[in-house]
Amino acid sequence: MKNKILLKRKGLENNSVLLSSMKGRPYFLLVFFVFFFTACAPAPTPVPLTAKATPIRPTQTEIPATLTPTAEPSPTATNIPTATPIPCDAYESFCVEDGHFWLARPISTEFNYEIEPAYRYGSTINGKRDPHHGVEFINAFGVPILAAADGRVIHAAEDKPAFYAPWERFYGNLVVIEHDLPELDTPFYTLYAHLSVINIAEGEVVEAGQAVGNVGMSGGAIGSHLHFEVRMGGYEYSDTRNPELWLQALDAMHGGIVVRIENQTGKLLRVPLVIDKVGGAEDSLERIASLDAYAPETHPVGVDDDWAETHAIGEIPAGEYRVSFSYAGQYWERFAKVHPDKVTTIYFLIEE
Ligand SMILES: [Zn+2]
Repeated sequence: MKNKILLKRKGLENNSVLLSSMKGRPYFLLVFFVFFFTACAPAPTPVPLTAKATPIRPTQTEIPATLTPTAEPSPTATNIPTATPIPCDAYESFCVEDGHFWLARPISTEFNYEIEPAYRYGSTINGKRDPHHGVEFINAFGVPILAAADGRVIHAAEDKPAFYAPWERFYGNLVVIEHDLPELDTPFYTLYAHLSVINIAEGEVVEAGQAVGNVGMSGGAIGSHLHFEVRMGGYEYSDTRNPELWLQALDAMHGGIVVRIENQTGKLLRVPLVIDKVGGAEDSLERIASLDAYAPETHPVGVDDDWAETHAIGEIPAGEYRVSFSYAGQYWERFAKVHPDKVTTIYFLIEE
């Protein structure tokens, strides 16, 4: 669904490098804004060139003008993928796309229903573990685990001999549900691992929100938690997708960011990056996440069929963000907006 138009890169990253070297020199602001307007702002609003010292940021960055809908959106339109992709260029600025935040949270709001940020999808915790094929919901023993969508249970037992993971007993007591999501024409599964108790049986039909078992630490778990996975297209270990891009947001004001960093040959460059929220007092930057790229090691994780991302984060509040990283001695950054229930895609093409 993407048209990867590799337009000649003339702009933001180079400007951003320039920007980073100009911090604290207000007299350069004018130069910066001239560059910025020519690079990406379709309909800039006047920005007073005040001598505000910190930090410099392009407040005129807006959703690309091409995103403006031509017709009145219907109230229900936000969850339905549009048939026609909205033209934009994620290599030059960013795109705002329909996501697929369709799954209910597997832990109710009475307990810890937030994804553990220290061990996100694709992370190895600095090489200490196999790349993470799911996400963790850290909870006490016995907390109920809920089906993320309607479906049919295809596995409800210890993963022994190992079938869903490369190692026996890795997942301990495991529930796997096959879903028939109306929006997809491909097989789709959710996995619930390390359970202390399994409440359902293979072949059973379950509804979204139905309890399928309890949190535990069976298998290779360190501490009691739910390990939750999404698999798509098949149920192999390599068929996983990032659950953060599938789970419904915490409330109606959250969206996600997807980043892909690649070179001119299409090789994915796996460098850590940071995401800062722009706003608050003095338009300050607030660090909200440090993301490792999905690890390329022995058992690489699956990526989104459309985005082929190297990094992703879900459930962040709508607003303006800065994505930045260093690579080969250069500093790169991009400012982008996140919209509720949408995914903002940002691609970096680095010639090396
Ligand atoms: Zn896990």
